[in-house]
Amino acid sequence: MIELSNIRIEKTDTDSKLICDCKSDSFSEKTMWFSAPLSFGDVFTDEVYDAFLVAILYPAMYYKENIVIRGAVSKKLFKNITTYVNKVLLAFSCELSDVDIKIENYGIVTKTGTRIGTGFSAGVDSFSTFVEYYANEKDVDYKINTLFFFNVGSHGRFDNPDTIIKFKNRYEYCKVFPDSLNIPFIPIDSNVHAFHEKFGHEKTDTITLVSGILSIQKICFKYYLSSGISYFENANNYKNFDIAAFSDPYILPLLSTDNLDIIPDGEQYLRTEKTVQISDYAPAQKFLNVCVKGDNGYTTAKNCSCCPKCMRTLMALESMDKLTDFAEVFDIDVYKKHSFKYKCRQRLMYNIDPFAKDNVDFARKNKKNVPSLFIAWLYLSPSKSVTLAKRIAKKVLGEKIVKRLKGK
Ligand SMILES: [Zn+2]
Repeated sequence: MIELSNIRIEKTDTDSKLICDCKSDSFSEKTMWFSAPLSFGDVFTDEVYDAFLVAILYPAMYYKENIVIRGAVSKKLFKNITTYVNKVLLAFSCELSDVDIKIENYGIVTKTGTRIGTGFSAGVDSFSTFVEYYANEKDVDYKINTLFFFNVGSHGRFDNPDTIIKFKNRYEYCKVFPDSLNIPFIPIDSNVHAFHEKFGHEKTDTITLVSGILSIQKICFKYYLSSGISYFENANNYKNFDIAAFSDPYILPLLSTDNLDIIPDGEQYLRTEKTVQISDYAPAQKFLNVCVKGDNGYTTAKNCSCCPKCMRTLMALESMDKLTDFAEVFDIDVYKKHSFKYKCRQRLMYNIDPFAKDNVDFARKNKKNVPSLFIAWLYLSPSKSVTLAKRIAKKVLGEKIVKRLKGK
């Protein structure tokens, strides 16, 4: 059994922390918490355990532990979790089992804010949502007025001391953009990913992120959650691997409460359509950061221009003749050096990887040359043949003889 109790808000001179006790033999952490700088005011509510229930649901179903909450949960969220969300999770992973959830009563959150939020990481997905619901949105009931930055797993494992450093560095890097528009950019730190470390971030990223979003439901009534996958791709490919891609369009509305509408955004577009959408937006040309290569990700404004995410974005920009518009954040020469090989790979992956298909289709639509399947295979096959020859040699001759032949 996992018991959550004693929900409270603790304050220091600089931060406010929403915290509850967590009694269970499955975790070393004995409390769950979210924290935010006090300079943004009181952002948390201790009237309901909503954020903590969502955070503990997947681990509880994995460890087959019933959940007991010594307090209140929003009625709509509780009903949706016990009727639908539990079944979505069972469909997502066969490692999970249904568990019993007991609460003391239903709670109501006292609203104190009218923020409309989204997360901001300077990537294509978050820029796309921002362009749609800030730059192009006229209706104040839908227009984003606050940006958030969560530490709930995307910056690394909780037990790794580098994670908090990365979270803070990335926040400082991204902050330049909202500061330039005078939009509040609220960082929310937490330890909820400590309860999810067994699974790896992608498997439960939506769940940990939503728990963070629910922690600030007092001040926020709409939250756009940018998804990477589109309606046009097959969500079933992501079963037991990426919960966001598997179920965002229907699990997010189910995890909303009467106070806070969590809206899945981004599914209406393919990746290349999002790249088109942000390509003329001047701040994107200055701040776009898609890189996944090591530290390059945020400590400098420059993307590496050769990792898979940089290449994917650059190939789309090249298709629309917009490479030079993004020369401030990408090294175009580095891209050009690697682009043919990358295009060959994309061509070979056409039927397997939806992003490759999208990028190849987009290049063709813009009358750009894409290597034929035969050329792609031929260009990439020498290295494959060498590897294969090496493997056969090792098997036939034995490792020792191969090493001797190599002079080792
Ligand atoms: Zn990169």
